[in-house]
Amino acid sequence: MKAYVDKDTCIGCGLCPSICPEVFEMDDDGKAVAYNEDVSEGLVDSAKEAEESCPVAAITVE
Ligand code: SF4
Repeated sequence: MKAYVDKDTCIGCGLCPSICPEVFEMDDDGKAVAYNEDVSEGLVDSAKEAEESCPVAAITVE
């Protein structure tokens, strides 16, 4: 699966890296980035949780 963050939508709340630090981190611009966009099987659940928890639906995991 692949993870993406729409930086135009992200409000930089910091939630996704706290839920799934193996996939998401905060970038220098204060927005999140999926630095590990190829989500391995063992990380799908937490990446999906981050997707569902994002307050502005900026994350796509598919
Ligand atoms: S949870 Fe959503 S709004 Fe918050 S940092 Fe992550 S992508 Fe941005």
